[in-house]
Amino acid sequence: MSSQAEDWLFIRKIPANERHFDRMLYDVAIVGGGVIGCAIARALSRMQLRVILVEKECEIGFGTSKSNSGIIHAGYHAPHGTLKGELEWAGNQMWDALHDELDFGFVRNGELMLAMTPDQVPTLEHYRQQGVERGVTGLEIWDGERVRREEPALAAEVVAGLYAPTAGVVNPYEACFSLIDSARANGVEVLVDSPVEGITRDGDGVFSLLTRQRPVHARFVVNAAGVFADEIARMAGAGSFRIRPRKGEEYLLDKRLRGLVKRIIFPCPTAHSKGILVIPTYDGTLMVGPTAVFVEDKDNRTTSAAGSDEIFAAVRRFAPGISERDCIAEFAGLRAVADGEDFIIGPSEQKGFINCAGIQSPGLTASPAIAERIVAILHDEGLEMTPSPTYRSHIGKRVLFASQSLEDQVRLAAEDSRYGRIGCRCEQISEREIIEAIYAGARTLDGIKFRTRAGMGRCQGGFCSWRSMQLLSSELGIPMTAITKRGGNSWIVCDRKEGDDA
Ligand SMILES: Cc1cc2nc3c(=O)[nH]c(=O)nc-3n(C[C@H](O)[C@H](O)[C@H](O)COP(=O)(O)OP(=O)(O)OC[C@H]3O[C@@H](n4cnc5c(N)ncnc54)[C@H](O)[C@@H]3O)c2cc1C
Repeated sequence: MSSQAEDWLFIRKIPANERHFDRMLYDVAIVGGGVIGCAIARALSRMQLRVILVEKECEIGFGTSKSNSGIIHAGYHAPHGTLKGELEWAGNQMWDALHDELDFGFVRNGELMLAMTPDQVPTLEHYRQQGVERGVTGLEIWDGERVRREEPALAAEVVAGLYAPTAGVVNPYEACFSLIDSARANGVEVLVDSPVEGITRDGDGVFSLLTRQRPVHARFVVNAAGVFADEIARMAGAGSFRIRPRKGEEYLLDKRLRGLVKRIIFPCPTAHSKGILVIPTYDGTLMVGPTAVFVEDKDNRTTSAAGSDEIFAAVRRFAPGISERDCIAEFAGLRAVADGEDFIIGPSEQKGFINCAGIQSPGLTASPAIAERIVAILHDEGLEMTPSPTYRSHIGKRVLFASQSLEDQVRLAAEDSRYGRIGCRCEQISEREIIEAIYAGARTLDGIKFRTRAGMGRCQGGFCSWRSMQLLSSELGIPMTAITKRGGNSWIVCDRKEGDDA
């Protein structure tokens, strides 16, 4: 086996000594394993601290953090005087270092905000000025001719564009996985499948999180529970704010349209949304969306004909080559919107309980800066921070079989025959990569899909789902009937035979 592959396995594999002790007193318990919780876990793993992250789903990153546009926003969008504005630009600048240390897809491909009528040009100037005052570099206003020269697929009606080279795209779920793999490798414990159902505090100020699996005791708690952060705060008597879910539907387009636009493209934004975008994802396919509609149900991730109609009608106005017939997959995510629309980050009336709530867009962009802000707050609240002498910032690079040269593929397959067996034909993912995903914590079909891309191609899992299930079954020693698509009761096969009910 190649040393690169060995290194990957050594670092990413869930540590054999990761044990959860019922009576352990942790320094910090983080509630929520989205990109915010994972970034905080990793930032704290630099210190000599006992840290645990508690997640209700069976996998990390299965909340809003896997269902977003994956944009690292340029840094000029949110208004001055807001936490969103401050942390968007601070976070934006941290992604190159993160990308260098962790192994996830990220590229700064730039963004273009479009004016479709002359009266929208002052809006572009407003955002350019806001960015310049914040220190965002490289902002330029292009006239319509320049816009079409750079992006020939855009409509003739485009009057001007604000170009920002600081914007980029990331594989959001890969970022979550890499952050938590790094945190784990540096000693953070992770407890999945464990919704926090109650929070108590004893006379010594120690918090106890009550979960279905076991209680978790900690001196400090960080609430990073996304759309449920208001409920977690209320459990602890640590805040009466309200979080409302604002749903965004997204539509992934066929590879045929790869390269139609190079940059992230969107019209001038409204008060509630950055508008509907065309996003060249890190993997090269185009995505269009999102909508922005308040919903009551915090688990409502449905897509709709109305959402699709709204998105494709909006996109056609500036990118006429895109049609709903190109859609191969769709999903929806929920923005966690606090009253006032800003992030809520800080200590609460319960000493030691820190809220990190209302992290709607640009939460992904801001996540590394939010994590540093939380470390500083914990320190101010009395948590001693001593750098860990064993901290390792880098994690091994994954071997992506599909991106190797034919020569290297032959060599890898000779070293380990599992490289030679392709699990997912559309995306050319080897069985070895699927097994690595299972070693690193994937427990469901979606866990494998988001860690490896197996199932994301044109056939959407038609070929590889069964093979991934067989590997989950054999590697974890569980029956096929125990395997789910995304946890809960999303089982795929049942052990009843026709006639059993008769
Ligand atoms: C459609 C859409 C597009 C977006 N696009 C962008 C973008 O392009 N760029 C950008 O910067 N931002 C974007 N965002 C915003 C970004 O996705 C979020 O800010 C970010 O993902 C929030 O991360 P989080 O960790 O706070 O939330 P989540 O990912 O939702 O994580 C919270 C976690 O807490 C867990 N949890 C909840 N309750 C409990 C409990 N009781 N016990 C234990 N765990 C619990 C959940 O299961 C979940 O895993 C977008 C959002 C949406 C919806």
